Amino acid sequence: MKRVGIVGSGVIGLSTALELKLRGFDVTVITRNYEEGASWTSGGMLAPYSEGLEGDMLDFCEESLRMFDDFANKVEKIAGFNIDYRRKGIMRIGRDEEEISRIFRYAEIYKERGVNLEIYKGNDIKREEPLLSEEIKGGVLFKDEGGVDTERLMDALLFSTEKLGIRLILDEIKHIDKDGKYIKGLEGLKKNYEFDVYIITTGAWNEIIPHLPVYPVKGQLLKIKGVHLERIYFSDSVYIIPKENHILIGATSEEAGFDTRPTLGGVDQLSTMACRTVPKLKESQFVNVLVGFRPATPDEKPVFEIGENYIISTGHYRNGILLTPVTSKIIADWVDKEKSSDYFETFSPERFVR
Ligand SMILES: Cc1cc2nc3c(=O)[nH]c(=O)nc-3n(C[C@H](O)[C@H](O)[C@H](O)COP(=O)(O)OP(=O)(O)OC[C@H]3O[C@@H](n4cnc5c(N)ncnc54)[C@H](O)[C@@H]3O)c2cc1C
Repeated sequence: MKRVGIVGSGVIGLSTALELKLRGFDVTVITRNYEEGASWTSGGMLAPYSEGLEGDMLDFCEESLRMFDDFANKVEKIAGFNIDYRRKGIMRIGRDEEEISRIFRYAEIYKERGVNLEIYKGNDIKREEPLLSEEIKGGVLFKDEGGVDTERLMDALLFSTEKLGIRLILDEIKHIDKDGKYIKGLEGLKKNYEFDVYIITTGAWNEIIPHLPVYPVKGQLLKIKGVHLERIYFSDSVYIIPKENHILIGATSEEAGFDTRPTLGGVDQLSTMACRTVPKLKESQFVNVLVGFRPATPDEKPVFEIGENYIISTGHYRNGILLTPVTSKIIADWVDKEKSSDYFETFSPERFVR
């Protein structure tokens, strides 16, 4: 049985490890830090339409959204606990004329595609969502969207790896020993490693894959509690995501390298816009600020580099949680059945060279 070595314990690395272990492979995950990844500080929204995605990204994300029920059920069943996965819809709201006309324009396009949605114009939005402020001039409810609590999802994935006997090694990989498109081994800080197949899922960190144009986009999120909301509200300036025991307010988007420090400017921007959207949030209590790094690429789309005995999978940017089921499946199919995916071609790094 092939020995598979995965570098990185974010949502992409761990879910791929799970998938391959369930198919009978001998799997080892090597990570520098279990809790460093963007996956721990994510909004966890499953929101291809609220994000306004188009073209190949929309196809990829929609395919993953369709797979999410099975993925969430599988993880909950193995871990043995609930990951607060819900598909109650996301209300994509607009504040000014430009934002409103853009989301209504997208809604018409998505409607023709068969997307399950409801448009709220003028006073209808106030009647449907009485907690929203007068600033909100309209909205579109994307009924199949939703979210998952990513802290619980990550806990569940880590717990599942332990339960299934996936090896987890705390080490930093410093260098990939490569001969063309073939990986000979990994040089770690503590020791060196050899596997039959390698999967590199290092998120925004590209020290060991410097040929790929992946870079971090810092995001700050506020965690608050004490107010109950039913629905996720998503706008250009802020999103508000109710979870079972708290609410997340997100997110800043900053090119600030790997600076993990929260800023007063970030807190001010998010809390001001959240209270301007749902005034009742002024009564909530502040819990903390989360900081994470989205793995971005120049065209904001993922990257799959396929070698003779390896796959590098990164660049999931703003949609890595949503893209987890499809990503882990196509990687596992490649390892297991030598089956290629059209998405490997679509999201090949060749596009950056061209
Ligand atoms: C503020 C914010 C909000 C977001 N909201 C959403 C959302 O609502 N919906 C959504 O779908 N997505 C969202 N995202 C995006 C999503 O979180 C990411 O795309 C996804 O988590 C990336 O997962 P990953 O496994 O590729 O990387 P990560 O989770 O970053 O994991 C990378 C792992 O690699 C390890 N590593 C790196 N270098 C090395 C090395 N040399 N050796 C060993 N280990 C190494 C790290 O320690 C880490 O464990 C958000 C992101 C942020 C920051």
